[in-house]
Amino acid sequence: MEKLEHIGIAVKNLKESNALFAKLLGKPHYKIEEVASEGVRTSFFDVGGIKIELLEAIRADSPIAKFIEKRGEGLHHLAFGVVGLEDRVKEEIEKGFRPLSEPKDGADNKRIVFLHPKTTNNVLVELCEDKHP
Ligand code: ZN
Repeated sequence: MEKLEHIGIAVKNLKESNALFAKLLGKPHYKIEEVASEGVRTSFFDVGGIKIELLEAIRADSPIAKFIEKRGEGLHHLAFGVVGLEDRVKEEIEKGFRPLSEPKDGADNKRIVFLHPKTTNNVLVELCEDKHP
């Protein structure tokens, strides 16, 4: 992996959690973005070049709604920045990890793939790559 790109945190109420994390980190979020295909609204904080991504469900069938239902709010995923997403996914499959989907659009102008947490010590891992213009 090239770098830890961001840490995803599932929250029930983005507005309240934006205020809470602003208080904790000493600075406000710098953007809010909806990813309709995933049924989430996200906000981003910058902490020394690593981002914190808060995720709020905007639909009952959103993966975030299901996650919170099962496990409550909290740490949701670690995202690693990669170059050459398709090749990287093939390599991870060869190593025994299991992608949850084909590469798809995520927040923050990225293409993303999640690896099944059953193959990664119950930590949901996201591989993400900047979309090329
Ligand atoms: Zn993410």
